Amino acid sequence: MTECLFCAIVAGEIPATLAGETDRVLAFRDINPQAPTHVLVISKVHYPSVAALAAADGGLLSELITQAHQVAVAEGVSDTGYRVVFNTGEQSGQTVPHVHAHLLGGRSLSWPPG
Ligand code: AMP
Ligand code: ZN
Repeated sequence: MTECLFCAIVAGEIPATLAGETDRVLAFRDINPQAPTHVLVISKVHYPSVAALAAADGGLLSELITQAHQVAVAEGVSDTGYRVVFNTGEQSGQTVPHVHAHLLGGRSLSWPPG
């Protein structure tokens, strides 16, 4: 069994509800959704955070954000608005150390976040 939770999802060892996929990126529904649309977009290759991904492969980071937008369009939330969040590091509340963008939409989102 793959040790990293999201690597295990990429490997098909843990089931996920897919919302989009490219050669290098996977989008799947968050198991504990915080909005009507709550999709996680990850790189298939393991990077521990967006900081590590940005340092290693800006093109892949761009693909990841593009995929988040495409899922927003497919979910019908791109016109009403959506949020893309990368929790990064301890104080952000990041719990899974595999880079993931949260795509949130389908309701009014408060600002600033808690
Ligand atoms: P973060 O706290 O930013 O690291 O986000 C991790 C997210 O992963 C949380 O929103 C969790 O609900 C979500 N999550 C944890 N396990 C799973 C899983 N097996 N499938 C889908 N989402 C998950
Ligand atoms: Zn991983």
